[in-house]
Amino acid sequence: MRETADVVIVGGGAVGASAAYHLADAGAGRILLLEREASLGTGSTRRCAGGFRHQFSSGINNELSLASVPLITGFTEQHGLPLDVDQDGYLFLVRTEPMWQSFLGALELQRSMGVAVEVLTPEGAAGLVPGIATEDMIGALFGPRDGIADPSGLTNGYATLARRAGAEIRTGVEVTGVRTHDGHVTGVFTRGGDIDVPVVVNAAGPWAGSLAATAGVALPLEPIPRQVAVTGPFPGAPKRRTLVIDADSTYYFHREGPGVLMGMGGGPDERASFDTRVDDAFIAEQVVPTALRIFPPIEQAGIATTWAGLYEMTPDRHPIIGPAPGVDGFLLANGFSGHGFQHAPIVGKLLAELVVDGRAHTVDIAPLSLERFAGGQPVRERHVI
Ligand SMILES: Cc1cc2nc3c(=O)[nH]c(=O)nc-3n(C[C@H](O)[C@H](O)[C@H](O)COP(=O)(O)OP(=O)(O)OC[C@H]3O[C@@H](n4cnc5c(N)ncnc54)[C@H](O)[C@@H]3O)c2cc1C
Repeated sequence: MRETADVVIVGGGAVGASAAYHLADAGAGRILLLEREASLGTGSTRRCAGGFRHQFSSGINNELSLASVPLITGFTEQHGLPLDVDQDGYLFLVRTEPMWQSFLGALELQRSMGVAVEVLTPEGAAGLVPGIATEDMIGALFGPRDGIADPSGLTNGYATLARRAGAEIRTGVEVTGVRTHDGHVTGVFTRGGDIDVPVVVNAAGPWAGSLAATAGVALPLEPIPRQVAVTGPFPGAPKRRTLVIDADSTYYFHREGPGVLMGMGGGPDERASFDTRVDDAFIAEQVVPTALRIFPPIEQAGIATTWAGLYEMTPDRHPIIGPAPGVDGFLLANGFSGHGFQHAPIVGKLLAELVVDGRAHTVDIAPLSLERFAGGQPVRERHVI
C-alpha cells in the first residue's frame, strides 16, 4: 500500500519547521515534513545572522514583523522551550541624503502602523554602540523592539512542538517532484517512494524553484551567496547585541560571543549562484576595509570563523506566500530575500490558516501572491541588506 498524508512539507528549515508545528497544532491531519539532509536547519537557516526587526520600508513586511516578532520573543513563555533572544534593537546608520530621506519616508509608515522607531543623532547612535564612526553620519534609526535570536533554536523548537502535536519529521528524504493531475496536487515523488497527498507546502528555501518547476510553476527566485565573518575578542567589542547596519554600504555587525559577527551585500557585482564556498577575497577586500571605516575598534580583532549562505531573492524583495496559481493544493512559502528567519513563525501560522480555514486571516497575504509578478506593479522593499 502506498503511504498517505494530509499535508507534506518539503524542507526542514525555519519555515518548514514552523509550518509543521502550526499545521499539526491547527488539526490539519497527518502532517509529514520531509528534509533531504541528515538534520534540520542546515540550509539558509544555519547561515543566518538571526536578526529580527520591524524597520521595513513596505507595509506588508512590517505587518509580517508585527505578527511574527512576538512569536519569537514570547517563544519560551508560550511553549516552555529554551530560545536565546536578545532584544537590544536594530540600529541603522545613514550617511547620504537620499538614504536619509528613504528612511524618514519609511518612518512615517512604520509609526502609522504602531512600530517603535527612534530617530537618533550620530552622537546618540554612538552612545548606544560606542566606537562607530560618526564623522560623516547624518543620523540613525533605532528600533528598540528589534533584536537577535537563535535560528537553530527556533527551528528545533518548532520541530519538537510539531512532533508533540503529532507531526512526523523525516530527514534524509529528498522530494524529487510534486505529482499533479488535472490541476490538483495528488502526491510527491521521493527517493524513498511515492506518497499520496492532496496538499504540498514548498518550504525548500533557495532550492524552491526546482521543486516548483516539477509542478509546472515558475518561481522568480535567485540564490544569492552572502559571506559572513566572525571575529575573536577585541578591546572595543560592543557590550550590547544591537544589530548595527550601515545603510549606505550595507555593512552590518552584532556582538557574537566575545567578538562580532559581520557581513555585507555584494553590490552590483552580485551574481545568482548556489556556490556557498567562502569568498576570502571579498571578505579581505570589501568586508574588512568597510568594517574598519564604520567600526574602527575592529582593527584589533582577528577573524575567527567565516561561512557563506544563500539569500533567496525575489525581484521585489518580498516573499511569495500562498497558493500556486493553477495547481490546487500546492502552497508556496518562498523567496524571503534575506529575512525569512524572522518571518518563519507567522508564515507557518498563515499556512495553517490557509489549509484549515481556506484563507490566511492573521495577515492579508494578497500582496504576496505569485501572481503579482505577472504584469502587476510589485512594491519593492528598499531596506533589504
Ligand atoms: C548570511 C545570511 C544572513 C541572514 N540573516 C538573516 C537575518 O538576520 N534575519 C532573517 O530573518 N533572515 C536572515 N537570513 C535569511 C534566512 O536565513 C532565510 O530567509 C531563512 O533561513 C529561510 O528559511 P527556509 O526554511 O525557507 O529555508 P532553508 O533554511 O534553506 O530550508 C530549506 C530546506 O529545504 C531542504 N530542501 C530543499 N529541497 C529539498 C527537496 N527537494 N527535498 C527535501 N528537502 C529539500 C533544504 O535541505 C533545506 O534544509 C540570512 C541569510 C543568510 C544567507
